[in-house]
Amino acid sequence: MAGLAFLLKARGFRVSGCDLSVNRLADWLAGHGIGVTSGHSAEHLAHGVDWVVRSAAVPLECEELRAASGSGIPVFARGQVLPCLLAGHRSIAVSGTHGKTTTCTFIAQLLKASGRDVSWCIGGECPELGAVAGAGREPGSPLVVEADESDGTVALYHPQVAVVTNVEFDHMEHFESREAFESCFRRFIGNSEKVIFCGEDPGVSAMARGLANVVSYGLSEHCDLRGRELRATASALELTLEQSGRALGRVKIPVAGEHNALNALGAAAAAFEMGLDFAEIAGGLGRLSLPRRRFERVAEGGGILVISDYAHHPSEIAALVRTAARLDAGRLVALFQPHRFTRTRALGPGFPAAFEGVQQLILAPVYAASETQINGGSSWDLYEQFRRRAGVGMEVLAAGSLAEAWGYLKGDLRAGDVFMIVGAGDVEQVAAWANDFLVSTVPARAGGTDLAADVPLSPASTVRVDEPLGEKTTLRAGGRADVWAEIATEQDLRALLAWTHDRGERCHIVGAGSNLLVSDLGVGGVVGRLAGREFLGLREEDDMVVAGAGVAVAGLLRRLHDRGREGLEFLHGIPGTLGGALRMNAGAWNDAVGNHVSWIRCLNPDGSECIVDGPSLGFGYRACRALETRVAVEAGLRVVAGDRERIREKLAAIEERRRWMKGLRCAGSVFRNPQGDAAGRLIERAGLKGLAVGDASVSPQHGNVIVTRDGARASDVLALIEKVRGEVASQFGVELELEIELLGRR
Ligand SMILES: Cc1cc2nc3c(=O)[nH]c(=O)nc-3n(C[C@H](O)[C@H](O)[C@H](O)COP(=O)(O)OP(=O)(O)OC[C@H]3O[C@@H](n4cnc5c(N)ncnc54)[C@H](O)[C@@H]3O)c2cc1C
Repeated sequence: MAGLAFLLKARGFRVSGCDLSVNRLADWLAGHGIGVTSGHSAEHLAHGVDWVVRSAAVPLECEELRAASGSGIPVFARGQVLPCLLAGHRSIAVSGTHGKTTTCTFIAQLLKASGRDVSWCIGGECPELGAVAGAGREPGSPLVVEADESDGTVALYHPQVAVVTNVEFDHMEHFESREAFESCFRRFIGNSEKVIFCGEDPGVSAMARGLANVVSYGLSEHCDLRGRELRATASALELTLEQSGRALGRVKIPVAGEHNALNALGAAAAAFEMGLDFAEIAGGLGRLSLPRRRFERVAEGGGILVISDYAHHPSEIAALVRTAARLDAGRLVALFQPHRFTRTRALGPGFPAAFEGVQQLILAPVYAASETQINGGSSWDLYEQFRRRAGVGMEVLAAGSLAEAWGYLKGDLRAGDVFMIVGAGDVEQVAAWANDFLVSTVPARAGGTDLAADVPLSPASTVRVDEPLGEKTTLRAGGRADVWAEIATEQDLRALLAWTHDRGERCHIVGAGSNLLVSDLGVGGVVGRLAGREFLGLREEDDMVVAGAGVAVAGLLRRLHDRGREGLEFLHGIPGTLGGALRMNAGAWNDAVGNHVSWIRCLNPDGSECIVDGPSLGFGYRACRALETRVAVEAGLRVVAGDRERIREKLAAIEERRRWMKGLRCAGSVFRNPQGDAAGRLIERAGLKGLAVGDASVSPQHGNVIVTRDGARASDVLALIEKVRGEVASQFGVELELEIELLGRR
C-alpha cells in the first residue's frame, strides 16, 4: 500500500492514508507528503476524496469503506489500481508463489546499477533500493512491480514482461481450489507480451509449454538462460551464465542460497529483455543484496548468529534450512510462527520435512492475519504433525506465545548456534529482543544463574538452578525451573517472598505437582516447595486440628485416623499436599476441603503474614480466592472425634472406588465440569477416549483424564487438550475450561 501511495503521489494525485496500526513506513510516506492516520473512520472521507484504495486486509464491512460505498465513492482493491499504473511504462511484473519480492528487487537493482532510470513498487524493503517504491525521472522509464497472487489480482496485470518464479498452491484463504489458484497465473501469462519463467519449476513450466513468447531460466540444460557450474557458499554464489547454449562468462553474486541463484537468473533474464548487456548484468549481479527478512543477519554476539527470514511456506522453509546448513553452526535452532490457520491446515503435513536439519524447533502460535481459528489449523495441530513423524531428529517444543518462546530461548541459546526467526507475521519482533539480549548480555546456559546466587535463604534450605520440574509432577512431563528452592523454614519462606517481590520476580510455591502441567519451555523466576519440618506439623487445638501446608494428604488422613478424628475421609486417594488441596479446594463424593477449613495462616506476596477465615477464604469450585496470590503455611481444620473402625471402613470403601486410578500418570481431572454437565461425559460422547498426541492420550477409562507415558512432553498434553477442546466445542458448543494449572514463563 505504501509503494502504491507513493507512485500515485508521484503521478500528481492527492493521497492520504490510514491504518489500524500505523507502522514505520508512515514516516517515509509523510516525508513524501502523504499523511497516514491511525484507525479507520468515515471522517477520512470528509475532505473531497474521489476514490478509495483498500488493502485486502481491510474488510469491506469496515466503517470507512461502508461510508465510501454509501456516498458513491468508488472503492478499489490495491491489486486493481497497481496494474493500471503500468500503462505508459516499459513494464515488468514479477509474480510466483515464492521469491517474487527478491526477484523483483534484484531486477530493480540491476536496472539501477546499470544507470537506467527506473521506477519500482515492491512488497518488501531492500536497503540497496532505499524504499519500497521509487519513481524514475523520465516518463515511461522501466517500471518493476511485484504482482500479488494472494487475492487473485495478478490476473489483472498486462505487463510487457512477466516474470514467474514458480507456481505452487498457496493462499487457501482466498482460493477454493488449486485450479482456481492456477487459473489466475494462466491469465497473467496470457496477458503478457513476454513471459520469463523458471524452467526448474514444474508448475509454471507446464503453463508455459507450447507458448512462443517465453524465455526460461534455470540451472538445467533445457533452460534458455542457464547458470552452470554453480558454486554456493554460506555467503555467496558463483556461476557461469549461458544464453541459448553460449557461455557469456562467470559471475559472482554476494548472496546466499541456491534458490537465490534462480532468483538472480530470473532477474538477469528480465534485464536482458530490458536491453542490458552481459557486462552490465554481471556488474549488477556482483553488487546484489537481499531484501529485509530474507536470510537477514539481524544480530550476532556471544558466538550466536541470529537470522530473520520471511519463509512461511514449506518450500520456502526448506530453502532457508538448506541455506543455513551451509553455515558452520553447532546447532540450527528455529522459532517458527505459522502464518494463517488456512495455510497451516492445508500444508501442515509438509512442514516437518521442510525443517529437517534443524536441531531445535520452537513453534509459536499461528499468526492469524485476520482469520478466525479453524479446526486443524492451529500450531498445536502442526505440533502434532511433527510428533507423528518419527525420526526427524529434532526437538520440537510448542510455545504459548512469542514472549514465552523467547524467555526459553534466551536461556537455551549457546555459542555456535545459528538461531533463525521464521515466519511472515509479528515473529519479526523477536529479532529486536535477540539483538538487545546479545548486545547487553553474555549468554549463560542457565537464565537463572544470577538469580540463584542472590536468593536469601539459610543453609537449611536448598537452592538449585535449571532444575528439571517434570519429575516433580504426576504427569512427569515438562521443562525446568530457572531457580528451584526447597524451603526449610517459615523464616526462609518470608525472606524469599519479600526478595522476589522487591525484584519483581515470580515466586511460585507448588505442592506435590498433582494438579500441574509444567511447560516444556520451563518456568521463570523461582519455583519452591515447602520442604522443612516446620511445614509438616500436626497439632490439636480445641475442637480443631492444625496442619502444616506441606503435609501430604495421605499422611494427614493416616494421622487423623490414628487419633480417631473424622471428617476428611473423602480426600482419600487424592494425591498432593494440604497446601495444594486448600488452593484447589480439592474434593470428591460431594464434599470439598473448604467445607472443613476454619482459617488459613498465610503469607502475602511480599512475605508479610495474615490469617484468613470465614467467607474471606472464598472457597468455590476447585478454587480458593484467599490463596490466589498467597502461600498457605498452616490451616485450622474442623474434624470431629470419631470411631476408628468406622473411619477405616470409609477409607477402604473409597479406596475400592478409586482403584482404577492407582498408578496412573495423570493430573486428575483436566477440565472443569461445565454447568450442569460433566466434562468426562462430553469427551466420551465426542468419541475422544483413547485419542493420543505423541505420548499423551485420553484415558480409556475416563474421558476427563489425560495420561502420559515415557517420552511424553508437556506439549503433547497441551496439543491433546486443544484437540479435545476443539472437538467438544464443535460437537456440543461447550467451551471446556482447564482445571489443571499450567505453569510456564508467561
Ligand atoms: C490420580 C489423581 C486423582 C485426583 N483426584 C482428584 C479429586 O478427586 N479431586 C480433586 O479435587 N483433585 C484431584 N486431583 C488433583 C490434585 O490431586 C489436587 O488438586 C491436589 O489437591 C493438588 O495438590 P498438590 O499438592 O499436588 O498441588 P500442586 O499440584 O503442586 O499445586 C496445585 C496448586 O496449588 C498451589 N499450592 C500448592 N501449595 C500451596 C501452598 N502452600 N499455598 C498456596 N498455594 C499452594 C500451587 O501453586 C498450584 O497453584 C487428582 C490428581 C491425581 C493425579
